[in-house]
Amino acid sequence: MTTMIFPGQTIGIIGGGQLGRMMALSAKEAGFKVAVLEPTMDSPCGQVADICIVAPYDDEAALEELASVSDVITYEFENIDYEGLKRLTEIAYVPQGAELVRITQNRVTEKEAIVKAGCPVAPYFVVDTYDDLVTHIDKIGYPCIVKTARGGYDGKGQQRLNSIDDLPLAKGLIEHSQCVVESFVPFNMEISVIVQRNGLGETYCLPVGENIHVHHILHETIVPARISNDTLNQAEQAAIKIADHLQLIGTLAVEMFVLKNGDIIINELAPRPHNSGHYSIEACNISQFGQHIRAICGWPLRKPVLWAPSIMVNVLGQHVVPLTNNISKYPDWSVHLYGKDKAKVNRKMGHVTIMTNNVELTLDEIEKSGIWSE
Ligand code: AMP
Repeated sequence: MTTMIFPGQTIGIIGGGQLGRMMALSAKEAGFKVAVLEPTMDSPCGQVADICIVAPYDDEAALEELASVSDVITYEFENIDYEGLKRLTEIAYVPQGAELVRITQNRVTEKEAIVKAGCPVAPYFVVDTYDDLVTHIDKIGYPCIVKTARGGYDGKGQQRLNSIDDLPLAKGLIEHSQCVVESFVPFNMEISVIVQRNGLGETYCLPVGENIHVHHILHETIVPARISNDTLNQAEQAAIKIADHLQLIGTLAVEMFVLKNGDIIINELAPRPHNSGHYSIEACNISQFGQHIRAICGWPLRKPVLWAPSIMVNVLGQHVVPLTNNISKYPDWSVHLYGKDKAKVNRKMGHVTIMTNNVELTLDEIEKSGIWSE
């Protein structure tokens, strides 16, 4: 049995960024009310929510207030305070639980969970000191990557080491926190599978996306990913295995590398809707946000259908002005801007989704537009 939440009731969201905003917009479409807890005023989610609680994510009184106004609580990012979330599960309905956040907040517990689910990760060692790194690095070999166990994103908190001469470059990371050192994977492609599951165990993957990063930040997602059927099966089966192992309720994004021979290796997990799933707003019969709301509200899930191949391009701070200056040239582009006021360089300000019957031609059009040249 799962609890069903109905339109008219209130969904509480921890985190006021773009993921919260797009969750809230989906929820509002179905007639739910939305409350958000976020420390900044006028946040992307706050702008579309019915109730805004402006306070730090770990503020006990604020969490209690969120609990008192919400019939169900979810979160839009994983770096929330685990203890606070755990306490929240005792006073509010948090169907996703706190355990998934605990596991995915730390690369060590995350990799252990992936391995326990029976899925492949790059060879790795946990390192607590610089001496540990020196000891283990021979077994891993070069090139390798040192990543902080906690808090890294968009390439932050990691250091690639190409040879023994680079070893000192990792000193700063290890002095500050526990790390993992992992083999550099000579991948052909990066893909992500967004898997969603409700309390009844109904599980669906969204069409698999091919991800292109620029300076470690997601630039484009191409859907469907240009992979073989065998790789597609491997990717979906791995995501479903991990979702089952973690008894997922809600959304899990599984980032993977595709090797030359078509095999996959899991890189990392995100326990929430993911940037690479934004295309689903226009290109699928159910978006990642709509499905997430259904999952946490105990509704039956919909089997995702892709209407047409699609490309999602991120709009960073430096792309906003060129994009808005060129909107009139591209009537077929779906433009999303998240309502952030400061368009800082490399800050995610929005995205564009383009449905197309000719991916190569559209990739060319995106490049020739000049909008993303910086
Ligand atoms: P992460 O923070 O783990 O998602 O890493 C950010 C990006 O760094 C990934 O999307 C990859 O492009 C690259 N990367 C991370 N780990 C590895 C690895 N073991 N081998 C090769 N590239 C990696």
